[in-house]
Amino acid sequence: MEGTLTESQGSGQSLELNADKIEVLGLADPDKFPIQPKKHTLEFLRENAHLRFRTNTFGAIFRIRHAMAFAIHKYFNEKGFYYLHTPIITASDAEGAGQMFRVTVLDPVNPPLQDNGHVDYSKDFFGRPTNLTVSGQLEGELGALALGEIYTFGPTFRAENSNTTRHLSEFWMIEPEMAFYDLTDNMDLAEEFLKYLIKYALENCRDDLHFLADRLANEEKEKPKDQRSMDLIEKLEFVVNSKFIRITYTEAINILKNSKPYKKNKFQFPVEWGIDLQSEHERYLVERHFKCPVILTDYPKEIKAFYMKQNDDNKTVRAMDVLFPQIGEIIGGSQREESLEKLETRMKEMNIPTSEMWWYLDTRRFGSVVHSGFGLGFERFVQFTTGMGNIRDVIAFPRTPKNAEF
Ligand code: ATP
Ligand code: MN
Repeated sequence: MEGTLTESQGSGQSLELNADKIEVLGLADPDKFPIQPKKHTLEFLRENAHLRFRTNTFGAIFRIRHAMAFAIHKYFNEKGFYYLHTPIITASDAEGAGQMFRVTVLDPVNPPLQDNGHVDYSKDFFGRPTNLTVSGQLEGELGALALGEIYTFGPTFRAENSNTTRHLSEFWMIEPEMAFYDLTDNMDLAEEFLKYLIKYALENCRDDLHFLADRLANEEKEKPKDQRSMDLIEKLEFVVNSKFIRITYTEAINILKNSKPYKKNKFQFPVEWGIDLQSEHERYLVERHFKCPVILTDYPKEIKAFYMKQNDDNKTVRAMDVLFPQIGEIIGGSQREESLEKLETRMKEMNIPTSEMWWYLDTRRFGSVVHSGFGLGFERFVQFTTGMGNIRDVIAFPRTPKNAEF
């Protein structure tokens, strides 16, 4: 197109091109182009994920996603953290027992077998069973105990069958790990980090955020007044300016047990000390009780990973989950157990093979210090920042159970 660029007369854009000449460069079948100048549903666009970038909505989402990835590196670089590339293929399945994707080159129809009939993985590519990583943390700890402060930012895989609006089978995770940080330092970092990123979006993605805010406001109009959520930009500003509430898991259980929905039997899942909180409980605490992001600490050891620092009560560990409105858990982290003895005992209790984890235990054997870290799910964060209701709409090519098209 050629012509004169002028200030726009109409609303909806700032500039317009008064065209003198239009030439179609490449469009074989214009009538069949699925993206027409009308409102399409997000479901329809998901089925056309190869073309949905061409819509204004997805343009805005992916520009914001880019800005957030950039801001993450900027933040850590400014703080003196080192970007560590942890492996994607791993042999340890200590963390995600049963929910990992196997990596193999063996013939699925006719694999080599041991005498006992089991698959002989010593004949496989790596000479042992290997999987796609569920977290870079264990390797991250090795880095932190040498370099001081590191972070990872890479793809993460979970073969769990959760068909929710907050779970992907392939997602990106940011995992900082810091020597000499206790749980309070860890919470301080998580809060500062999230606020930094949101502030960056507010300052650098104004137009796209306004576009998405208008889109959401239109959707909200269809809902009854008392169910409408806050304007997107107001919500982001609110989080930047609020102080996150910090309470223990035990306090949270007490609040839930005294809540209206609990007393009226409105929660779908049980509330009991020792049980993992469901998203409905997390969202009650954040959206209805405190009306502000919440950090829960000191969870029962039974529902958390083996590497978390054990408290003196012998019942809880120094875990922390950051809970956000609309999302629920956005960050999961902890102070790590630095005592070799306690770590080994806990691993045995949980049937985790200490022999395979020799390299991890070596960090405790050869000079260990207090250290902590956490994992932020990148897509959950982008979901929050863009206000999108479904996590599949903030990653270019979503991978979910029974879905790996494109
Ligand atoms: P949830 O209980 O919500 O399934 P989790 O406790 O299994 O999450 P962690 O192992 O603590 O998650 O992972 C750290 C962070 O990674 C989470 O706080 C979340 O932001 C993100 N995350 C975890 N699982 C997924 C997933 N399947 N898809 C997208 N993000 C995820
Ligand atoms: Mn978690």
